Amino acid sequence: MRVSVIGGGVAGAATALALARTGAEVTVHEAHPDPAGPVGSFLSLAVNGLRGLELLGCLDRVRECGFEVPEQRLWSGSGKPLGAMPRGRLAGDALHSVTLMRGRLVEALRAEAERAGARILTGQRLTGRHDHGAGVRAEFADGTTAEADLLVGADGLWSATRTLLDPAAPDPVYAGLYSVSGRAAPVAGEPGTFNMVFARNGAFAHLPAPDGTVWWSAQVAEPRQPDLAGVPLAEWPERLAALYAADPVPLALLRAAAEVHRPTLMHTLAPVPVWQRGRTVLVGDAAHPVGAGQGASMAIEDAVVLARVLAEGRPLAEYERLRRARVGRMLKAAAANREAKKAGPVARRVNELVMPLVSRYAYTRATAWLYTHELGEPVPAS
Ligand SMILES: Cc1cc2nc3c(=O)[nH]c(=O)nc-3n(C[C@H](O)[C@H](O)[C@H](O)COP(=O)(O)OP(=O)(O)OC[C@H]3O[C@@H](n4cnc5c(N)ncnc54)[C@H](O)[C@@H]3O)c2cc1C
Repeated sequence: MRVSVIGGGVAGAATALALARTGAEVTVHEAHPDPAGPVGSFLSLAVNGLRGLELLGCLDRVRECGFEVPEQRLWSGSGKPLGAMPRGRLAGDALHSVTLMRGRLVEALRAEAERAGARILTGQRLTGRHDHGAGVRAEFADGTTAEADLLVGADGLWSATRTLLDPAAPDPVYAGLYSVSGRAAPVAGEPGTFNMVFARNGAFAHLPAPDGTVWWSAQVAEPRQPDLAGVPLAEWPERLAALYAADPVPLALLRAAAEVHRPTLMHTLAPVPVWQRGRTVLVGDAAHPVGAGQGASMAIEDAVVLARVLAEGRPLAEYERLRRARVGRMLKAAAANREAKKAGPVARRVNELVMPLVSRYAYTRATAWLYTHELGEPVPAS
């Protein structure tokens, strides 16, 4: 089977790897000249994503690119502890959540996909798609075309494939939050711990890295969509310090900030009604941008499930059936997560009372469905 994968980010590279392992002839068409370069900031892989990588035979390769973060702590802005729990896993799980730069993850997955036989072409932006019964033709902005038996739309939040598949598909909407992240000198945090501070103007995450720096990410609540590009990178620590002035740990880290990554607006997307039709299917953020530390893990799960469904000769509708309910549940959890980061003073006070109880008594019950999900057998390497 010839497959054109549109987009070479996490979902595209993982899907290319999964399909190439089953013997498909895979070509990735990536718009960006170098998608694996130093773009983006850091992200975390929870145990469900790591198990997906294990099934794709590349867990160790990816783990080498980051570091393990076994614990998570929640804090109020003033520094009051609100709870502690395992990070991205259940207590006793042998696997520990891994944090790494997005670029390193994409680089590792692309290398593994190429090793499995996939071809990766860069500088190819999808602009058209034509399903002609005997196959599907992808058309690119540079005037080239590609013929395949299957087209996989792994082109992220602003997916062109999604709109070509269904012109009535929803568009992303600004979520009332934007994110700025970077590294700072080591002034706070215990090694191996991801800290989430629920501050007055948004959330603030920080975790010490093995190189001695602290990786931080401010998720600022701002109802009106800001013009992030208009602010020089060097100005962000000072701007953020003004927003987190009442929150001692975020403030100290922002004052010690040594590096800032390009800020991003956060978006939501209404449920996408069409995930597959004819010879085209969506994976990753193109179908369901979830956030809440699960974007990459859910994309990896999609890759595993799609490859197995196709290897077993089942229809694309089966992939959709297997993924819809789980992704739907994740989208609800992500919405609650977003609301906690945007909470006003009253909701924040309520959260400060509720979070310690949830983390102590209900964490396992609330997250077992996410972390114990069975993805099945390894995707066979042909
Ligand atoms: C630059 C960047 C930085 C990011 N940084 C973070 C981060 O710091 N933390 C985090 O949790 N998540 C981050 N994400 C999102 C995270 O990577 C995703 O939630 C998750 O990994 C699922 O990825 P995806 O492959 O579905 O989408 P994406 O990671 O968005 O990848 C989509 C890919 O498709 C390509 N593409 C888009 N349109 C076309 C087209 N028309 N034709 C061909 N190719 C196309 C893009 O260039 C990109 O490489 C980032 C995404 C990007 C693009």
